[in-house]
Amino acid sequence: MERRSFLKKAGAGLAATTLAAPAIVHAQSPQIKWRLASSFPKSLDTIYGAAETVAKRVAAATGGRFQIQVFAGGELVPPFQVLDAVKDGTVELGHSASYYYVGKDPAFAFDTAVPFGLNSRQQTAWMYEGGGLELMREFFKEYNIVNIPCGNTGAQMGGWYRKEIKSVEDLKGLKMRIGGFAGQVLTRLGLVPQQIPGGDIYPSLEKGTIDAAEWVGPYDDEKLGFNKVAKYYYYPGWWEGGPQLSIYVNQKQWDGLPKDYQNILEAACAEAHVEMQARYDVRNPAALKRLVASGTQLRPFSREVMAACYKEAFALYEETAAKNPKFKKIYEPWKKFRDDQYLWFRVAENAFDNFVYSGGGQKK
Ligand code: CA
Repeated sequence: MERRSFLKKAGAGLAATTLAAPAIVHAQSPQIKWRLASSFPKSLDTIYGAAETVAKRVAAATGGRFQIQVFAGGELVPPFQVLDAVKDGTVELGHSASYYYVGKDPAFAFDTAVPFGLNSRQQTAWMYEGGGLELMREFFKEYNIVNIPCGNTGAQMGGWYRKEIKSVEDLKGLKMRIGGFAGQVLTRLGLVPQQIPGGDIYPSLEKGTIDAAEWVGPYDDEKLGFNKVAKYYYYPGWWEGGPQLSIYVNQKQWDGLPKDYQNILEAACAEAHVEMQARYDVRNPAALKRLVASGTQLRPFSREVMAACYKEAFALYEETAAKNPKFKKIYEPWKKFRDDQYLWFRVAENAFDNFVYSGGGQKK
């Protein structure tokens, strides 16, 4: 430590945190280098950036002993194969949206979002304090994965459409990029869902191989340029009231990881989790203004469309629960949790939101 103190005094100002950090981690803590496969492109600084935040924090808190190298979707493995890559141990870590894997099991959706489910705060409450993490970890066990919440976008937008959606009838035959469980709900109303990674949506929409695409919200959607190829921007993304991203850790690697590193990794994920939501909440308003100024037409989904989707969503959950015990095991306590959250949020939160967002009674 004497040499380190000397270096610190010698003016290595910027490196001070790194040099001071070994005081926290035991001197003989091993040097570990892990690879993280993200499902997302680098251009999405909010989502992709969460994995970078984790890597940066973990390195800083271990004096550089625990290094995580982050790879964008497609660099090591294709975006939708991140789960398999972590499961098989091809990589130690992944960062993904679990609902990409509903084709393997619909229960994956609860780790991200299910249509008409929880908002961002409620999802975090469920995972951190409401029993959600325990349920999801039990589920992920058979995939050799330890899952850690790592980011939430907040309520998303309903996507970009080349023509207006005025009724349920307009959903029929619509080829839309939409991931996860929402695609199954919309299939029941005649829509044809397409699973396309974020980086490939623009060309598909431009070429017209799809009629519509949903991604995240104003900030990310503007970056990917969807406003240039589709005019109508609908809201809300009722299938994603508060979708969560997750870090996947290969079970065997996790088990071999020193306890302090496990704790540091979880703490770094918790920080990235809060940071992502904050980043979206700060960046979305400005992006929305720019989009509207550039000619984007904002449209709310009609009550009729929303109600039809709601009905199909819960019919699908009940049917899925009846034939899939793993889904049922999560769905039942989740639904009870959701009911209680709705009960509470419709009192103080809702009254507050409604009043202030409508102008607080002031003439504008
Ligand atoms: Ca989305």
